Amino acid sequence: MTDLARYDRQMVLPEVGEAGQRRLAQARVLCIGAGGLGSAVLPYLAGAGIGRLTVIDDDRVEASNLQRQVLFREADQQRPKVEAAVDALRALNSGIEIVGENGRLDRDNVQRLFEDHDVIVDGSDNFDTKFLAADAAVKFGVPLVYGSVTGFEAQVTVFDPDHGPCLRCLFPSPPTSWVPNCAEAGVLGPLVGMAGSLQAMQVIQLIVSQALPGRLEPLIGRLWTLDARSMDSHCLRIRKRPDCGLCSLDPAAVELPRPSRDPGQDIAPNEASQLDDALFLDIREPDEWAAGHIPGAENLPLSRLLEGERPARLGERPCVVYCTRGTRGETAARLLAEEGHPRIHNLLGGLAAWPGPRRQTDR
Ligand SMILES: [Zn+2]
Repeated sequence: MTDLARYDRQMVLPEVGEAGQRRLAQARVLCIGAGGLGSAVLPYLAGAGIGRLTVIDDDRVEASNLQRQVLFREADQQRPKVEAAVDALRALNSGIEIVGENGRLDRDNVQRLFEDHDVIVDGSDNFDTKFLAADAAVKFGVPLVYGSVTGFEAQVTVFDPDHGPCLRCLFPSPPTSWVPNCAEAGVLGPLVGMAGSLQAMQVIQLIVSQALPGRLEPLIGRLWTLDARSMDSHCLRIRKRPDCGLCSLDPAAVELPRPSRDPGQDIAPNEASQLDDALFLDIREPDEWAAGHIPGAENLPLSRLLEGERPARLGERPCVVYCTRGTRGETAARLLAEEGHPRIHNLLGGLAAWPGPRRQTDR
């Protein structure tokens, strides 16, 4: 136990002490996602001496991640995030177990992962994963440290199935309208880092509180919010709803949500270019279309799709929706797929990733 010396600075706190430190060393924590939130959560938890730290992610490191995902270096580009994260965390603390799962949290792996960990950290950036994690936390009785950042706003809370509300007490279902913009909703690195640091803090508080109850007050039933434009910060009380469609149920009866998007819906550009007879639907605005598009495609801007307009013969042939980089396309593909049209695909990476020629409109 000589290793304990490296944790002196936190053990000296009476709220942690040696008992709390031993508890941290026994704890198993799962972090969903090695993105901006995970980049802050993971090193702090590794540094704090969490006994087993598992990270699940299915992405690779991209240059555009480095602005906020401070766990990664330029040399990590194109490596699976999980692999790069595990290397970085092992270099930080060789005395703990660090496990990487290269994949996405889904209905098949969620039970094994949740039952195998004491605390779950939601570092995901999409509603499907957030709701799956929140529902699974209730079903399998594991506390979930929730975090989200949109623009200049950050939120962190703890969903403890034994003591507080769940995500669905706050939001009964995932929002159905997506921001129709190709550029991803912007975000500043330090704000994501703040939210992630706070999530790590909540994990430590939850675990240490098991050893020394009553000394710390994790954010159970309270939603911490920050508007970083003004730095106004609040802790809003959130209550368990007696009629909540999830946490009022017997946990065994909880039916985990299916992804709202058929995973087969995204299509890689090389795969899309092999499709015979597919309708390529360009959902960008007319000026974007005129500047260059896939030869043979049809143009129907997302704004008109949202108003209810549909291309002719939709459903009779595969449809590949595309925008500039794939984000607006995802909204459009989801909209059409949810209406029940078969064989709707979103072109991964959008026109920017298209390997074939483009055509400009002569005017
Ligand atoms: Zn609830």
